[in-house]
Amino acid sequence: MTVRTRFAPSPTGYLHIGGVRTALFNWLFARGHGGQFLLRIDDTDAERNIAEALQPILDGFRWLGLDWDEGPEVDGPHAPYYQSQRGDRYRAAVDQLLARGAAYRDYATTEEIQAEREAAQREKRRFQYSRRWMAESPAQEAAFKAEGRRASVRLKMPREGVCAFHDLVRGDVEFEWALEQDHVVQRADGTCLYHLASAVDDHDFAITHVIRAIEHLSNTPRQMFIATALGYALPAFAHLPYVAEPGSAEKLSKRKLSKYLKHHEFKKIHDHGADIAAALGLGVTPETFNPVVVDFYREVGFEPDALVNYLLLLGWSLDDRTETFTREQMVEHFSLERVNRSAASFDPQKLLAFQERRMQALSLDARVARTCPFLERAGLIDTPPTDAQRSRLGLVVDAAADRIKVAGDILSYPEFFQADDRVAYDEKALDKRVRKDGVEPLLRRCRDRLAAAEPFEADSLEAALHHFVEVEGIKIGQIIHAVRVAVTGKAVGFGLFQGLAILGRDACLARIDRTLERLKPEA
Ligand code: GLU
Repeated sequence: MTVRTRFAPSPTGYLHIGGVRTALFNWLFARGHGGQFLLRIDDTDAERNIAEALQPILDGFRWLGLDWDEGPEVDGPHAPYYQSQRGDRYRAAVDQLLARGAAYRDYATTEEIQAEREAAQREKRRFQYSRRWMAESPAQEAAFKAEGRRASVRLKMPREGVCAFHDLVRGDVEFEWALEQDHVVQRADGTCLYHLASAVDDHDFAITHVIRAIEHLSNTPRQMFIATALGYALPAFAHLPYVAEPGSAEKLSKRKLSKYLKHHEFKKIHDHGADIAAALGLGVTPETFNPVVVDFYREVGFEPDALVNYLLLLGWSLDDRTETFTREQMVEHFSLERVNRSAASFDPQKLLAFQERRMQALSLDARVARTCPFLERAGLIDTPPTDAQRSRLGLVVDAAADRIKVAGDILSYPEFFQADDRVAYDEKALDKRVRKDGVEPLLRRCRDRLAAAEPFEADSLEAALHHFVEVEGIKIGQIIHAVRVAVTGKAVGFGLFQGLAILGRDACLARIDRTLERLKPEA
């Protein structure tokens, strides 16, 4: 038997971190068994433009390297993979359920059902539909129709006994049939509902393992009932714990961003990304820019492998030591037996640590390739970059080293890619380091010292500055910060002498001159 798993997103316009974790487990399980992974689109209720709302989800999967064997854009032998296009198939299944007595046409109005529900509440008993408007014969149907009623189709669920099954994560599970309602599978307008569609699709697509979020556990009895009534072989079920908020047991939700921002680490990761987005001129709203959504990580330049590795450990572990896995190792080791039953809390700090480690493990060439598109998008270099721009980028990435934690961090160093007259100056840094008594003449003399430095390289520049400090009889701190601000526009950055050498003599002198110019009192 070939293992076939599926992830079934609704086209919501974004890919949630928790959803990706579910998809990843499906993908790993299929790949580890030499099987297939499918994407099915649950768009029975979709009101908006499906293509538009699906694209970010497909893009997210591609970026993460979670390829699908059948589904949108790749198609496959069981197409279509969109529930909105499978209505005829679902209606045929409903007819079969009716013919087999597993479902019935129900002519009750919403108000009548509601009245029964309220009566049960008043009498403090469990609601169970009386089936008063159930039509079991053509004569009954005709009579109800004559009253102007319209039928929906309901499952005729068992009213005693238990639905028992073995869940590959939860173990043995039991549900009392009497607690199940006669769920509607087809509305009066002929459209079919999700649970029917899901059971039919899992059968039609030959899904062997339904691996999904825990919130679907309670849907399983009715889906099993439908599948069994239709004579389908049942897939195996595995219900995964949900991904919880940072430091809490509540389910992680995109809508609670403002609450998460109270967590220091979450705020850090968010604000860091927001700075990068601002440098790119992206609009930052909780809708589009939210660390609960996969797009966020792509936008700010995370390594997909780091995110995938982190998500793997949200609910699964190999042992209590191993944290870093290559894709191949994940595929080799992943098993449903080692999935936790309890919710795993999303920890942005840990995710960032994974990212930093992964980034530093990359070759310089790879880091240049990752950062280059960010400079291009920000308009700081050409697309494609010139050879000079590319080699400059190599020098900056090398010098910045582990300060570049995500690829977008390259945007913290625009001054290395800007013309001298475009560099932005941090006024506070100027006040603190340059606009102070005695600094101007010092900077002027230091400029001349740098002008004469030979060669214009980090080591000799450092030696030259130390010599300057000695001759002047000052502390190094009195000049080094002023030079940094004068040349780069700001108070922080990587090694100053490396930075000066990368910029070259002409740019350094021109920038110091421009800074000295600024110090002149306004005419
Ligand atoms: N469309 C459902 C969801 O997004 C999938 C349910 C399932 O996997 O059966 O939760």
